[in-house]
Amino acid sequence: MAYQVLARKYRPQLFADVAGQDHVTRTLLNALAQNRIAHGYIFSGHRGIGKTTVARILAMALNCRSAIGSAERPTPEPCSTCVACTEIRAGNAVDVIEIDAATNRGIDEIRELREAARYSPARDRYKIYILDEAHQITDAAFNALLKTLEEPPAHIVFMMATTQPEDIPQTIRSRCQHFSFHAVRFEVIQQQLRQIAQQEQIAAEEAALSLLAEAGDGSMRDALSIMDQAIASAACDDGQPKLEAAHVRSLMGTVSNAVFEQMLLAVKEQNAASMLEQAAALLDAGNAPQQIARQMVRFLRNCLMAHIAGEKSGLLQISEEERARAGRAAAIFSEEDLTRFLNTMLRTFDDLGYRQEQRFHLELGLLKLVYTQRLLPLDDILRRLSTGTALSSATKSQSAPTNVLSAPSPASRVQAPPTSATMSTRTDSASARPAASMPTGPGDTQSGIADIFGDTASKSKNPASLPAATPISATPTPAPTPTLAPVFSAQEIIVEEPPDAAILRAAICSDMANGGHQTAASLLEAGIWQWNGKEMQVQTAISKVMLDMTYNAEAQRIARESFRRRTPAGYNLNVAPEARGSANTANPNASEMPPKSVSQRAPQTMDHPLVQHAQELFHAEIRSVVNLREEN
Ligand SMILES: [Zn+2]
Repeated sequence: MAYQVLARKYRPQLFADVAGQDHVTRTLLNALAQNRIAHGYIFSGHRGIGKTTVARILAMALNCRSAIGSAERPTPEPCSTCVACTEIRAGNAVDVIEIDAATNRGIDEIRELREAARYSPARDRYKIYILDEAHQITDAAFNALLKTLEEPPAHIVFMMATTQPEDIPQTIRSRCQHFSFHAVRFEVIQQQLRQIAQQEQIAAEEAALSLLAEAGDGSMRDALSIMDQAIASAACDDGQPKLEAAHVRSLMGTVSNAVFEQMLLAVKEQNAASMLEQAAALLDAGNAPQQIARQMVRFLRNCLMAHIAGEKSGLLQISEEERARAGRAAAIFSEEDLTRFLNTMLRTFDDLGYRQEQRFHLELGLLKLVYTQRLLPLDDILRRLSTGTALSSATKSQSAPTNVLSAPSPASRVQAPPTSATMSTRTDSASARPAASMPTGPGDTQSGIADIFGDTASKSKNPASLPAATPISATPTPAPTPTLAPVFSAQEIIVEEPPDAAILRAAICSDMANGGHQTAASLLEAGIWQWNGKEMQVQTAISKVMLDMTYNAEAQRIARESFRRRTPAGYNLNVAPEARGSANTANPNASEMPPKSVSQRAPQTMDHPLVQHAQELFHAEIRSVVNLREEN
């Protein structure tokens, strides 16, 4: 007898045998028991999780010649012995027509189908059309089908299997019962593989089955295909193939996750050399860079999930051993760390897809992990060094445009804290999502900086530190970061803005951040936003140079567009740099600031406590000092 691949040999013949889709099979069995048969069904979900299989079983159940409740067929499940059942199983039933919609997607084919559908079934109860990959059918062809679905002949049942149900027109979908299939859970696949191994009399290591189940990634068919391959190439023990984890791993070209755990340890120790050596060992052993990056991404993802939801969480579809490993690796990093790592590796993986020197890109990506870890403390340091003061709002109101509204109504007082809360949420999310900044940012360092600024800004805008209901606060608020910060730190929100100014600020800054201009968004958000007639004046606390650099043409375009969408015609957005002299007067620490044209006064720079601290921490060498406050 010809060899049959496992996926076909063990294809379920009964609803009860379909693994991991209980929500679908239960409903269908009920419908069959009550004889409530729809004329159209849509089965959607990933590949290899049983959509077509369920369609066939349903076809068998509908056309089965044994009546429900008879000896051969006690339940609505098909009897699998009658002529209809056997024919459908073999794929040669006259009244069950399987169409691969990927190749028969045009209007002519569907018209033909529609014509044929008018005639009664040749022998059985229903004429059943199973359309595989139904989303491929063209719109015109769907329209041709619509008529048949609107007034279906009693003997017709359409079953559409698709991976992209959203591509099926709404008019069709609304006339069908839609069943969404779930990805098959790891344990379910593993259990199924274990059973099949037993039935095939194959000695299989538990770890090998776990690997196969993981490789299936929610798809039973994928797991079985790899298992087929593994069995075919496995070493034989007494004439019986034996499945070993190491063999499966080498077959799939994957590396043991123990290696990635080691790599994360290297990250923790900030040991770039160790990281590169491990990568070299993997590459020299013949592992493809892309595969390594891919596995690293998966491993990091699992670590992140283990950190967030615990290693027992259902978010992890891996074996016990791997759960423990992910848990161990997750424990030594923070959630933010892991998120950054995952982001970096995802980018590296993407890059590898179209880059020439794959090895170098992989190495670069792995090094970035080490450096990201090294960079992170900066965040904390800046916060810890906070001692200075922010610009007093009195100064701000001098330099700020006029037309500050009169005393705030109680309503606007109440409004203030939520506004700031909304904004700090935004900045928080921006900083927790370095992903957004990275692809568009000029470099990682830049995005790192943007993160820090995001953090600082959000921190200083924490409602608790806000004199929330003070109209114009005369007292300076403590700023989080002294020497760097006055340039970037958030200023107080003036409460008596017209309510929509705050909303507008949040919306525009959010749009800019989403457009990849986090730094500009943070800077603008920290500014004072006031209506002056038909003009929204945004007074920032940064120099013109800095403003031009961050709030560049693209950022301006996004901001203007965002502004235009939210205001009536004729309104303007005006973003102004720091008003000359306004900032320093209010800053008691101003004398400590690095003087202008620092390059000529390098020794003084070297004496600065912050600089010294930074040198100590990072073993840094001072190459150049730029005073961002300097105005050109
Ligand atoms: Zn039957």
